[in-house]
Amino acid sequence: MILGIDTSCDDTGVGLVALPAGGRAEVRANRIWSQVVHARYGGVMPELASREHVERIDAVMQDALAEAGAGVGDIGAVAATAGPGLVGALLVGLMYGKGLAQGLGVPFYAAHHLEGHIFAAASEAELEAPYLALVVSGGHTHLFDVAAAGEYRLIGATRDDAAGEAFDKIARLAGLGYPGGPAISEAARRGDPKGVAFKEPMLGQAGYDFSFSGLKTAALLAHRAGASGEDLAASFQAVAVKHLLKVTRRAAADLGRRTVVVSGGVAANAALREAFGASGLQAVFPSQGLNTDNGAMIALAGAAAMRAGRPPSRLDAGAAAYVPLANVDG
Ligand code: ATP
Ligand code: FE
Repeated sequence: MILGIDTSCDDTGVGLVALPAGGRAEVRANRIWSQVVHARYGGVMPELASREHVERIDAVMQDALAEAGAGVGDIGAVAATAGPGLVGALLVGLMYGKGLAQGLGVPFYAAHHLEGHIFAAASEAELEAPYLALVVSGGHTHLFDVAAAGEYRLIGATRDDAAGEAFDKIARLAGLGYPGGPAISEAARRGDPKGVAFKEPMLGQAGYDFSFSGLKTAALLAHRAGASGEDLAASFQAVAVKHLLKVTRRAAADLGRRTVVVSGGVAANAALREAFGASGLQAVFPSQGLNTDNGAMIALAGAAAMRAGRPPSRLDAGAAAYVPLANVDG
């Protein structure tokens, strides 16, 4: 089995996947400790995040082993996120993973957080290039063209806020609670998607970039003008999904891609799943529980690296706050 660790932000995630010879990787465990200490600060406090990871990681790993009905002796490789993320937080999982791999005498793989988000979808289907990968999370709205396995070309990205960030900020201003994504999705069920007239971002512009800051401003103005939280949620969700789908469709048509992997926290959104599912594109989403940060997605990325014959990482590989995934010039 491959053990995957993600401590890139405020979730301590440990997952286990089995990699049967010739078969598809199977998620056997996925345990997440979501840190609650940050709530009173209204944002993640990096130093507190690191400390919580240190305190929790061992217990989360034991939980993951128990869930899989496995022991440390069943671990054949270890993968841990090396970036991007909060450096102090990343270091905890990275060092823990390296130490474990060294102690067990098994290969270690330093993983890229976004490659992890993409490979979360390998829990549902074998990812066979070529495909487009849309990562919609709290910090990213990135569209990659993956022409061949392991080759990522960044073809579009948000010019301002990430999609998840917009969900979070709009939920906060409408008083819908935190985290914003699930809160908006819930409130939207009772709202009118035409209740607030949002203008679709970047209309008439070519290329594959996204923008969410205009929607955020429009939401603030509508809120001040008395729009209900439910209508704001339903209308924002509708226009955000429309925007994400329109740009992705254009890219798929231009590049001749049929399969689109949609991952990251926002990929949990039911309206988004429905729209992509009905779009004519072959949309692949992560299984439930694998959209937001977790360790299983890192184990799945590690499994893909092993399958591809990628050499293990050196044990002196460091953590980095910013590491682009794109390795092919756009
Ligand atoms: P990054 O991976 O870019 O560093 P992150 O790890 O913080 O960011 P994720 O854990 O992938 O991000 O996703 C968190 C985001 O997903 C939050 O912004 C949250 O509001 C959003 N989200 C979660 N569930 C939903 C949902 N059902 N609908 C819309 N957004 C959602
Ligand atoms: Fe993430």
